[in-house]
Amino acid sequence: QAKQAGRGNLHLFDALQDQQVQTTHTRMARIGEALQSEEFRLHYQPKVYLRSGDIIGFEALLRWQHPEDGLVGPQAFLPLIEETDLIVDTGNWVLSQAMRQLQLWVQQGHAWKVSVNIAARHFHRPDFVDSLRSLLLDYPSVPAGLLELEILESAALQDIQYMRHMMQECQALGVSFSLDDFGTGFSSLSYLKRLPAETIKIDRMFVDGILTDPEDSTLVSAIVGLARAFDRAVIAEGVETDQQAEKLLSLGCEMGQGYGIAKPMPADAVVPWAKARRTAKPLL
Ligand code: C2E
Ligand code: MG
Ligand code: MG
Ligand code: MG
Repeated sequence: QAKQAGRGNLHLFDALQDQQVQTTHTRMARIGEALQSEEFRLHYQPKVYLRSGDIIGFEALLRWQHPEDGLVGPQAFLPLIEETDLIVDTGNWVLSQAMRQLQLWVQQGHAWKVSVNIAARHFHRPDFVDSLRSLLLDYPSVPAGLLELEILESAALQDIQYMRHMMQECQALGVSFSLDDFGTGFSSLSYLKRLPAETIKIDRMFVDGILTDPEDSTLVSAIVGLARAFDRAVIAEGVETDQQAEKLLSLGCEMGQGYGIAKPMPADAVVPWAKARRTAKPLL
């Protein structure tokens, strides 16, 4: 007993490290179970027209309602499974959950879009398009045009030829695309030309500095100009204040998403939020 305790002290650091590795493993194993035991949730964050306040749609953001740790954000567990097939199972769960939600909203007479983040590994599966097709067939009352897929710009740049092909296949089904975190993985103008995404999503990093850092506002207006030139829509993420929204509008960016409009919320909070908003002031 004493010997064990002494050994434990001497190797405290190792033990801590072991424990961390263990936690990671336990959590990875638990992610598979979480899928089965319905501990995953989707929260929805609105995207709006900054001028009128009209709702465009909602981005589905994954949460894990962990029995001990509470509500866990995606950054805490998605990186653990990004290189495994669990990301595919998780992504398929997210897609079908989002379609179920879309079906409900369509039944209630809303024409809101829902955007789903797709991991590179998932999108690169040879069966991605087939499973998307059968998912859409499972929800015949949902127009495919209401489903948008968000692909990280950095991931899209990995294999342009293949990305372009895959995006076109999905677009043939009616689904649209948004290039997420745009500006962070940017390497060449010609890439945008070859990626058929309908929308580009300006990374929060640039919106953050838009009022204080002239370089950030220059970058935002360059991205807006780029979007115009290539006939794409443009939306800003991370809009936190009225002033940022006004600045974005003055730079020609008409759509936004961010805490200043609303934080991501559980599905059942969305309709009440939209109702309350209709009677409130339009901008933010
Ligand atoms: P993202 O797709 O760029 O999503 C935006 C993230 O910024 C979300 O964090 C959102 O809650 C947060 N955010 C929104 N507005 C503001 C704001 O005004 N200020 C600040 N500081 N943050 C804001 P979240 O939900 O933690 O998600 C983080 C990332 O995890 C997402 O970044 C996305 O890349 C990934 N992710 C989330 N859900 C999924 C999913 O279902 N599948 C996959 N593959 N990735 C997901
Ligand atoms: Mg996103
Ligand atoms: Mg983003
Ligand atoms: Mg991001």
